[in-house]
Amino acid sequence: MSTPSESGKTLVTLILGDGIGPEVSGSARRIVDATGAPIEWEEREAGAEVFKRGLPSGVPQDTIDSINRSRVVLKGPLETPVGFGEKSANVTLRKLFETYANIRPARELPGVVTPYTGRGVDLVVVRENVEDLYAGIEHMQTPGVAQCLKLISRKGCEKIVRLAFEFARSEGRTSVACATKSNIMKLTEGLLKRTFEEIAPEYPEIEAWHVIVDNCAHQLVKRPEQFDVIVTTNMNGDILSDLTSGLVGGLGFAPSANLGSDVAIFEAVHGSAPKYAGKDTINPTAMIGASIMMLRHLGMFDEAAAIENAILFTLESGVATRDVVGDERAVGTTAFTDAVISNLGQRAAAYQERAYRPIDMPSFSPDPVRVRPGRRAVVGVDVFVESELQPDQLGPSVERLAEGSRLRLKVVTNRGTRVYPSTGTMTDCVDSYPCRFVPAAGGEVTDADVIDLLRRIGAEHRWNHIEKLYEFDGEPAFTKAQGED
Ligand code: NAP
Repeated sequence: MSTPSESGKTLVTLILGDGIGPEVSGSARRIVDATGAPIEWEEREAGAEVFKRGLPSGVPQDTIDSINRSRVVLKGPLETPVGFGEKSANVTLRKLFETYANIRPARELPGVVTPYTGRGVDLVVVRENVEDLYAGIEHMQTPGVAQCLKLISRKGCEKIVRLAFEFARSEGRTSVACATKSNIMKLTEGLLKRTFEEIAPEYPEIEAWHVIVDNCAHQLVKRPEQFDVIVTTNMNGDILSDLTSGLVGGLGFAPSANLGSDVAIFEAVHGSAPKYAGKDTINPTAMIGASIMMLRHLGMFDEAAAIENAILFTLESGVATRDVVGDERAVGTTAFTDAVISNLGQRAAAYQERAYRPIDMPSFSPDPVRVRPGRRAVVGVDVFVESELQPDQLGPSVERLAEGSRLRLKVVTNRGTRVYPSTGTMTDCVDSYPCRFVPAAGGEVTDADVIDLLRRIGAEHRWNHIEKLYEFDGEPAFTKAQGED
C-alpha cells in the first residue's frame, strides 16, 4: 500500500494544514527525517487557502493525483467552513479515498498528569469513517424541520468490524468491545451489533463484547482501564474518541489513522486551533504520534519505536508544552521538537513496546449488494405530509382523500410518536407528519397504489417524501412509531 519514489524512498504526500497545521506537521516531519526513515515527502495543499481560491471541495486535483501515487498521507488539520456551502475538506479526503476506518489510540503518558494517571489507560477507538450521519445527507422536510439520513450498511459494518479485529491482532490486543445504540436504533446501530456478533467467532483468541454507547461513555470515565479496542459507528466514535483523548491529557496527545483498502491518511485528532497559529506554543505530540502510526503502517517499526521512546523520554524528563505544564514551565513547539530529536536513541523507562506487526487489511468484494433476501414484499408506505393542521384535523383529511384507493391510513406520527388516532396524550407537533398507509384489503402495495395515493393526497396537501415499508423474508424492515400498535 505504499509507493517507492525514484530515489528508492517511500513517497508520502504531506499536507501541512491550516492554523497550527504547519507548526505541528513541520515538527513531525523534522523528527521523522531525523530518524533517517527513507521517506520522500511530496508537499500538497488542501483546506482554507484552496477554499479561498474558489474551489468548493477544498481539495485540488494535484493533491488527489499525489495521493493516488503515494497512497500514504501525513495531513495537518484543515479548517472547516462553517454553516452552508463548502463541505469539510477532511471529510472529503476520507471519503474520496474510502478510508473507512478511523483508528484513535489513547495511552497514558509519563509526565502528563491527569485524574487518571497511574491507571494504565491504553485503549484504541476504531471508528467507522464514511457512513452514518457523517455522510451528511440532509434535507429540509419543511421550512422548519431538518432531516439527516443515518445510513448504515451491512458492507460498511463488515468492513469496520473485520478491521477492528485485524487491528487488535496486529497490536496483540485481546479484547474488542462494540459500542452501539442498538437498543433504540435497532435497524441502523443494530446492524453493527448483529454484524459484530456474527464475525467475532472468527477471532476466537479475542474477547468480544457489546456495550450500549452511553454506558460506554460512563464506563470510560469510571473505569477506562477495562477497555482495549472499541469499535463503533461514525458519530459515536467521534464523541467517544474525544472523550478518550481527554483521559490521557487532551487533544494535544491524540493521533489518528484513517485506513482504507488502498490509501491511509495519518493526522492529529485536533483541529487547526486558529488562536494559537504562528505562536510556537502548541503541542505537536498528536501529530508526531500520527507520524509514528504512519511509520508502523509503512513497516518502519524501528524508526517508529525510536520516536515513541524519544517522546516518552522527553515527557518523563519534564520537557513539555504549555497545555501540559502551564505557561511558566513550558517550552515552545520548536524547542519541544528539538528536545525530541536530541533524545532519539534514548530509551524511556515507561516504554513497553508491543509486538507490532502490519495489519492484515481485510479485502472485500466490490459487489454493492451484501444481503439478498429470498422474498421481499412492500406491505405499506409512509407518506410525509407538510401541514399546519393539528393531528385530529389532518388524520380525517388524509383518510377521506384515500377513500376508494387500495390503501387505508393506519397511523399518523410526529417525530416518531403516534398522534392519530389519538392516544389522548400530549405530543407537541411540528409541521411534518409521516402518514402510514397499509393495504385496505390485505396483499401487497404496488407502485401504482402509491402513485394513486400521492395524487389524492397531493390534491389538498404538500407531501415531501415517501418511504416504502418492506418485509424481507417475512421480517418487517421498518420500525413502529412510539404508541403504534
Ligand atoms: P481545535 O482546533 O481542535 O481546538 C480546540 C482546542 O483544543 C484548542 O483551543 C486547544 O484548547 C486544544 N488544542 C487543539 N490542538 C491542540 C494542540 N496541538 N495542543 C494543545 N492544545 C490543543 O478545535 P476547534 O477550535 O473546534 O476547530 C478549529 C478548526 O479546526 C475548525 O475549522 C474545525 O472544523 C477544524 N477541525 C479540523 C480537524 C481535522 O483537520 N481533522 C479536526 C477537528 C477540527 P485550549 O483553548 O484549552 O488551549
